[in-house]
Parts: sequence; C-alpha cells; structure tokens
Amino acid sequence: MSPDPAPTLSTPVLVVGAGPTGLIAALNLAQHGIECVLVDRNESVGEWPKMDLTNSRSMELLRRMGLADEIRVRGMFLRCFLFLGQCQD
Ligand SMILES: Cc1cc2nc3c(=O)[nH]c(=O)nc-3n(C[C@H](O)[C@H](O)[C@H](O)COP(=O)(O)OP(=O)(O)OC[C@H]3O[C@@H](n4cnc5c(N)ncnc54)[C@H](O)[C@@H]3O)c2cc1C
Repeated sequence: MSPDPAPTLSTPVLVVGAGPTGLIAALNLAQHGIECVLVDRNESVGEWPKMDLTNSRSMELLRRMGLADEIRVRGMFLRCFLFLGQCQD
C-alpha cells in the first residue's frame, strides 16, 4: 500500500518565515487585498524576545500600517537609554 500523498496547497503568495519580515510582508499583502499563506517551521512564538527597542523609522512604517499605537501601548517608554556610555534623550 502506498503512503498518503503529501497535502497540497494552492496560494497566490507563500510567505515563509513568521518573523517580523514575514509578518509585515503578509500584513502588507492583506492590506492590498492579496491573499497569502504564511508558514513557519515553529509551531509557536519563541521563548525569548528578540526585540527590545524599535527605532524611529520602523515606527514610521508601523504607523503607516496602523500598528504604531497598539505597539506603543504594549511597550514601555524609556526616557533615555545608555548608548556607548552616554545618556541619549
Ligand atoms: C537577542 C536578540 C535581541 C534583539 N533585539 C533587537 C532590538 O532590540 N531591536 C531590533 O530592532 N532588533 C533586534 N534584534 C534583531 C531582530 O530580532 C531581527 O532583526 C529580526 O527578528 C529579523 O526578522 P526576520 O523576520 O528577518 O527574521 P527572524 O526573526 O529570524 O524570522 C525568521 C523566521 O523564519 C522561520 N524560518 C526560517 N527558516 C525557515 C524554513 N526553512 N521554513 C519555515 N520557516 C522558517 C524562523 O522560524 C523564524 O520564525 C534582536 C535579535 C536578537 C537575537
């Protein structure tokens, strides 16, 4: 008896990797009405965060996508941070 054939998937766009790049790509496609399927080799998010700071340019792009306010609410505001030993306001 032959094994079951591998399941097939048909989609206009396949986005591989659900890190920030893949998530933003999938969201951009959806906001432009383009169907896509997003896949990742992992079944859940990682245990450790990989982003502490989001720079201004990223926030500009996230604002354009309608995400900046929610990210700001869920984040922490830093009055300053130490960069090469100096406090940057
Ligand atoms: C400890 C740490 C702290 C960091 N702090 C910051 C920070 O404060 N600010 C900041 O801006 N950046 C930070 N970074 C960098 C930031 O996390 C990366 O720039 C960002 O995650 C890159 O996103 P990405 O989507 O390109 O790749 P990734 O986040 O690596 O995502 C790639 C995804 O693709 C999946 N994948 C890979 N291969 C396959 C495959 N063959 N099939 C299916 N899925 C696959 C992976 O499982 C993963 O989910 C940090 C990184 C680390 C490690």
